[in-house]
Amino acid sequence: MNKHSDQFYTVEVGDSKFTILKRYQNLKPIGSGAQGIVCAANDVLTNENVAIKKLSRPFQNVTHAKRAYREFVLMKLVNHKNIIGLLNAFTPQKSFDEFQDVYLVMELMDANLCQVIQMDLDHERMSYLLYQMLCGIKHLHSAGIIHRDLKPSNIVVKSDCTLKILDFGLARTAGTSFMMTPYVVTRYYRAPEVILGMGYKENVDIWSVGCIMGEMIRGGVMFPGTDHIDQWNKIIEQLGTPSQEFMQRLQPTVRNYVENRPRYAGYPIDKLFPDVLFPTDSVEHPGLKACKARDVLSKMLVVDPEKRISVDEALMHPYINVWYDEAEVNGPSPSAYNHAVDDKDHTVEQWKELIYKEVMDYETVGQQRENAMHNHKQGSQGGVSAKS
Ligand code: AMP
Repeated sequence: MNKHSDQFYTVEVGDSKFTILKRYQNLKPIGSGAQGIVCAANDVLTNENVAIKKLSRPFQNVTHAKRAYREFVLMKLVNHKNIIGLLNAFTPQKSFDEFQDVYLVMELMDANLCQVIQMDLDHERMSYLLYQMLCGIKHLHSAGIIHRDLKPSNIVVKSDCTLKILDFGLARTAGTSFMMTPYVVTRYYRAPEVILGMGYKENVDIWSVGCIMGEMIRGGVMFPGTDHIDQWNKIIEQLGTPSQEFMQRLQPTVRNYVENRPRYAGYPIDKLFPDVLFPTDSVEHPGLKACKARDVLSKMLVVDPEKRISVDEALMHPYINVWYDEAEVNGPSPSAYNHAVDDKDHTVEQWKELIYKEVMDYETVGQQRENAMHNHKQGSQGGVSAKS
């Protein structure tokens, strides 16, 4: 692998420096998350606009490392129009000893969902966004990835209303990880079974979709708890204390706490979401009206996962299935993700090796792809096929 420093250049964005391939020009910061800064850029080779995320020293601690590794491996694995796709990945450092940063190049979208939720969306847009979230989620589930942490800041959209999920949620063992970070983790969209440390199944992600839909209608966060306890209060105040049968499925200490909270009856769905909050009913699509929106919402925002709608049922609901397209709903599954990675406890140095290896693999395959294209071009230019 011959990597030359003249392939790269350095540019300052905010307090950070991006050292990137020269094909990426005109960087503009567009967002930041727990892992680092994201810039929009122009790819002068393809003349496309892209997003570049810098993972600064992703192996600096075990939590960062596991997340970075998982994200990179999963981005390579998935292939669905409602999940962000990886266009390129590289490190500017020339050896393992110097290895510091990873850059991920992705398709560029226009805004994240936090910005879109603030807008007055009509039923067409709202249901189309929900439909695409469900298609993306179903694709993840088909690879055995249950997200559990969907939130508006990790969902991006274009002005034509297309949508992509940006990340892959919690690793199976993420619950125990602790990280000192100035970055505040948003937990408002996490399902009761995650908050209460119960087992979970695929429809754990439906809860988050319900919270996002509720927020689109209300214009404010549904359950904005300062911590898990406060959040649980917000949930039961609105939706009511769950049944005794639900309580029996909790671990003893959690059950003791939950059972000793004041009891709430909750509010009927039309009091939580009165008619005035909804856009006018669609003339074109009979399914797209307030009563149907409220119906699907009432089936998603259900505390007990045994009584909550499934992803497949949600996709068939009249408010959602106006957009149903077999190829989008049941596209080819990615090969299954090896969860052993989630459960492994590596040292920082081992993570550094694993991440470095993945980046090198990607760069090598990318180089082979480019060489093949180059040979193909030369072959066709000369009018002789390059058969051996
Ligand atoms: P992340 O570091 O992945 O959590 O991303 C942080 C923020 O950067 C997101 O909330 C988006 O606002 C923005 N962002 C990330 N990736 C993209 C992208 N591919 N297109 C547009 N905006 C993005």
